[in-house]
Amino acid sequence: MQNFRIGFGYDLHRLVSGRPLMLGGVHIPSDKGLAGHSDADALLHAVCDALLGAAALRDIGFHFPDTDPQWKGAPSKVFAVKTLELVREKAFEIGNIDATIIAEAPKLNPHFPRMLASLALLFDMNPGDVSLKATTNEGLDATGRGEAIAVHAVALIYRKPKETE
Ligand code: MG
Repeated sequence: MQNFRIGFGYDLHRLVSGRPLMLGGVHIPSDKGLAGHSDADALLHAVCDALLGAAALRDIGFHFPDTDPQWKGAPSKVFAVKTLELVREKAFEIGNIDATIIAEAPKLNPHFPRMLASLALLFDMNPGDVSLKATTNEGLDATGRGEAIAVHAVALIYRKPKETE
């Protein structure tokens, strides 16, 4: 029997002028981008937290603290690759990832093929095991007013139990 674990991740970053919008390691054309110490890719951050959570490996802030200058302006792809390494060090493989992005604008569906391909590549997964959804907050709260983008993600990881000696 295989050992299955699930994890949940959440992230939110403020939308500001003068920053590129990065989601899933992909640049999305937009007049605003996400503010943060790294490239503020909320999708990659939420997925990394889901994977780390599934493996009981703390969170993204523990492994890549925003007080550490080496992560200033860092592409979050680096966090994704390192997270995959951490998960595999514990002998887990990724089963699937599912994420919901809450954004009033821009419309994300046209960019999903590129974002899905990027996630599959970064986390070394079959494209069919990665899922993205987009929704709005109906004009309510900070995400609804277009002041932020939030992401919820879940991930399933698995490993075969060690052979008994
Ligand atoms: Mg973040």
